[in-house]
Amino acid sequence: MIKHTFSTLPIFICIALVAASCDPQPATPEATASLPREIPEPATLVLRGGKVATADEAIGEVEAVAVRGHEIVAAGSNRDIASLIGPVTQVIELEGRFVMPGFIEGHGHYLYLGKTQQILDLGSAQSWDEIVHQVSEAAAGAKPGDWIQGFGWHQEKWIRVPEGVIDGVPRNDRLNQVAPDNPVLLTHASGHAMMANDAALASAGIGDLTDDMPGGTIVRTSGGKATGLLRETAQNGVKAALAQWESQRRAELQEIAMRERAELAAREALRHGVTSFHDAGASFDDIDFLKKLESEGQLPVRLYVMVRYESIESLAARLPDYRMLSEENDFLTVRSIKKQVDGALGSHGAWLLEPYFDLSDTAGLVLDPIEEIERTAELALRYGFQVNTHAIGDRANREILDLYQRAFVSHDMDGAELRWRMEHAQHLDPADVPRFAELGVLASMQGVHAISDGPWLPSRLGDKRTTETSYVWRNLMDSGARINNGTDVPVESIDPIASFHASVSRMMNNGKRLTPGQAMSRQEALESYTINNAYAAFEEEIKGTLTPGKLADMVVLSQNIMTVPEEKIPETQVEMTIVGGEIKYRGE
Ligand SMILES: [Zn+2]
Repeated sequence: MIKHTFSTLPIFICIALVAASCDPQPATPEATASLPREIPEPATLVLRGGKVATADEAIGEVEAVAVRGHEIVAAGSNRDIASLIGPVTQVIELEGRFVMPGFIEGHGHYLYLGKTQQILDLGSAQSWDEIVHQVSEAAAGAKPGDWIQGFGWHQEKWIRVPEGVIDGVPRNDRLNQVAPDNPVLLTHASGHAMMANDAALASAGIGDLTDDMPGGTIVRTSGGKATGLLRETAQNGVKAALAQWESQRRAELQEIAMRERAELAAREALRHGVTSFHDAGASFDDIDFLKKLESEGQLPVRLYVMVRYESIESLAARLPDYRMLSEENDFLTVRSIKKQVDGALGSHGAWLLEPYFDLSDTAGLVLDPIEEIERTAELALRYGFQVNTHAIGDRANREILDLYQRAFVSHDMDGAELRWRMEHAQHLDPADVPRFAELGVLASMQGVHAISDGPWLPSRLGDKRTTETSYVWRNLMDSGARINNGTDVPVESIDPIASFHASVSRMMNNGKRLTPGQAMSRQEALESYTINNAYAAFEEEIKGTLTPGKLADMVVLSQNIMTVPEEKIPETQVEMTIVGGEIKYRGE
């Protein structure tokens, strides 16, 4: 337990400077009475008696930190901070606990995180039977025509697979049996595929004879029957049919569901020590909704939102109205655009330079055409937006590096100033690694993906490509590139401690380490989750370290993740999450 006390210590007459000890001269009452006294305004919040990793090299590790309003005003020894404690200062006795800058989730899906808490959670299912059971229970409580949605299934997590699977995935027959009158849409944990029952396929007009669409696959049996599995863009029709059904529900019901979604997302973030969140994609409508929440004070986590799901025409017309730079203690920033060039490796959607090891007739999929990304990049330059492109395969990464380079050269711009990002950057040809630092392109990666994907990477890429091209953090950092960290929640849990641990250990759940030479040091992992993510959002002046003058966004952890034995890192508990000087979450 952390003790909370309201101190009644007297205010000393000196201003505490960073790490400078406050040493007031004893003065007689007569002497002080004749001098104008400079009394520092007391702090509103002080955390003391702990190990505070400021992540600011000039300050280092200290015992205490003081906050006034939403800003850090001092970091230093308990003595340094003492003068800032006034009658109404809330003092938290850390009793040796660890404090660090709040985690910044570098790439996640905020409203979708909330939504996954509202629908069937399929992430812990260990078999297809369990999933069918969950759907049948939901169908029993649903009205005919109501959609049943689930998220997070992954065939690699199942302890057994039913007969008749195609590419390891069952057909939808049993979903048709248990929910004949309800469209069922079960999204894969990667987000790159879904299983739909026949009612859902019919609502999207998909039949056995429907052609595949560019960038997508309707998986079929050898006899030509659609199995219900839809890959990449083939999901769009069913998603649109669901959106149509949702839009028919009364507006206020939708508003309630959306607000609940935002609340659930915030709760998940705060309980995991996340104080800022880079949202990898929201439409202008979603941004309007988030803006409303911010104005009502209902956004407890700071969002850095990338514009997504808009046509070129819509971007051209509306981007200027949506540029919202970060201001004093605000919670919503919009100055970037998200694009997506390829799919995921697991579903053979990542765009590779050479064909897949286990599927030699394909080298992956192109989702947003290169020309479209190029035109988007032009708009971004015109209106002062950053471009963040999802690229997983080595071909996808090369194409986007080429595209960014063309844009920088043709506009005579310095890439380092623009800070354009590669989202995921998972598989890189060795020749492309140094180009990140050379061009000033940021590698926005997810530590935890490396250990989830690690066990099956060789099945897709073979051993050589797995070792040489996959999650090459060390090669990137040695070449001078900056790496961001995150989880791509809800693809993975938002837990930054798990991703931090994956980043320093590369320990997979099979007990082996994925090319351990590519691991980050703890300092590098800490920076990837704090200052580097702040930099990737143009916010390094206000976030990412516990430097006086920056926002008081910090997290109290049960133990020091920089020094505990590596295997103990995952046991770390978040005890307190502070955003803008306010305690937004307290652990048990
Ligand atoms: Zn994502």
